[in-house]
Amino acid sequence: MPTEELDINAPDERSWEFIRTHEIMEGDLSKPQVMLTYDDFPWSYEQLQELLLNLKSEGGKATFFFLGKQLSQLEMYGWNIEDTKRTFDQMLLEGHELACHGWQHDDPMTSLTDQNLSLQLEQFLSAMYALAPSAEIKFFRAPYGARNSLVLDVAARYGLQHVMWTTGSNGTDPDTLRITMENVAKVGGNGAIVLSHMHRPYDVKYAGEIVRNLREELGLSTSTVSNGIKLSDRREYSTLPYSDPLGLS
Ligand SMILES: [Zn+2]
Repeated sequence: MPTEELDINAPDERSWEFIRTHEIMEGDLSKPQVMLTYDDFPWSYEQLQELLLNLKSEGGKATFFFLGKQLSQLEMYGWNIEDTKRTFDQMLLEGHELACHGWQHDDPMTSLTDQNLSLQLEQFLSAMYALAPSAEIKFFRAPYGARNSLVLDVAARYGLQHVMWTTGSNGTDPDTLRITMENVAKVGGNGAIVLSHMHRPYDVKYAGEIVRNLREELGLSTSTVSNGIKLSDRREYSTLPYSDPLGLS
């Protein structure tokens, strides 16, 4: 019984509880839209530009789950810091969303201790906010989707809500466009979460065509995670006790 009771005077506690228990497994099934998600890191700054341009050409919206280690070592990869900051600003302006894919892909998060997980998420947020101070990082996706209750608990402490995916785009097969359409149709279209990768050549090359085909063939628009999730997964409707933001009650 006590576990059901939440202290309404402790909104932070309630928020943490909400975030760790509301992993996002699918989007809002009542809306004809899918969430595009791009994981990891691009091979180059130019590849990111190409992906963004392709999305923009068709008005596509997406959430980008970046790895923190690469964000912290941009200069080593030949990226200009100021250009990257401008690009991230531009991404936010264009309606995309920045999110967390942890620090690195090496060890699954499930192999880490509470302390290591905390350190990695702190390092991620520090690297990300240095490049995109106006971003609001609300979502994370563990590498390989490998998470357990400790991972979800620790991430929730940083306000990070875990996001799985319902289907994928492939991205390494030249037939990625057709594969993506079939995969999205197979999971019913509405509320699909499409896993793609910033570094996979056909995810980048066909990003615009995918957005257009989703719209023209399946009647689906694209959205960020923030805009595509179910009302019941939206923390803003839960963290404020007794509020009724949509006047539904
Ligand atoms: Zn990944």
